[in-house]
Amino acid sequence: MKKLQTFNTDQIKIVNESVEIAEELVSNHYKMSASQWLHRRYDVKTLVGLNPDEVVHGPYAQIIRYKGQRKDTSLESSTYDFYKICLQDHSILAIIEQLSEMKLFSFTLYIIIHELIHIVRFSKFLQNFDASPEEKLTEEARVHEKTHEILKTIRFSGLTDVLKFYNKWRMPFDGLQNS
Ligand SMILES: [Zn+2]
Repeated sequence: MKKLQTFNTDQIKIVNESVEIAEELVSNHYKMSASQWLHRRYDVKTLVGLNPDEVVHGPYAQIIRYKGQRKDTSLESSTYDFYKICLQDHSILAIIEQLSEMKLFSFTLYIIIHELIHIVRFSKFLQNFDASPEEKLTEEARVHEKTHEILKTIRFSGLTDVLKFYNKWRMPFDGLQNS
């Protein structure tokens, strides 16, 4: 198989920064305190941290739900949902190369905010992970709407272009998958 393009060291740094800012913006938006935030309930991984079956072609990211088990007990009720945000470096880099106005930081900021909103909504039971395709599509539009709401007052280089990109493109850009 052809080797897929992955983020280089500088790009990883940029992505890590966008993750930090995305977490801050989303937790503020939902007024979640540090203790209410989804610590250890999700992880963000780039292509090098993905298993082959977590790699997709087309979407910029996908969320995979795993079942976690707390170590201190073996009771059934102690399992919890764990979400892995799988960034697809190759697809993100392809669009950045294709559209010169797209900036990596602002683009991944949008993607990560979008994915975190999904996870917050799953964890608050505002949305079912295993919804019907129609419901998933409605949720997708809602999550794009929320992402816009959070980002429209923020200024970062290239962010307006990212928002414009998704204004035209209110379509699913990620996948949801069970492990
Ligand atoms: Zn989505």
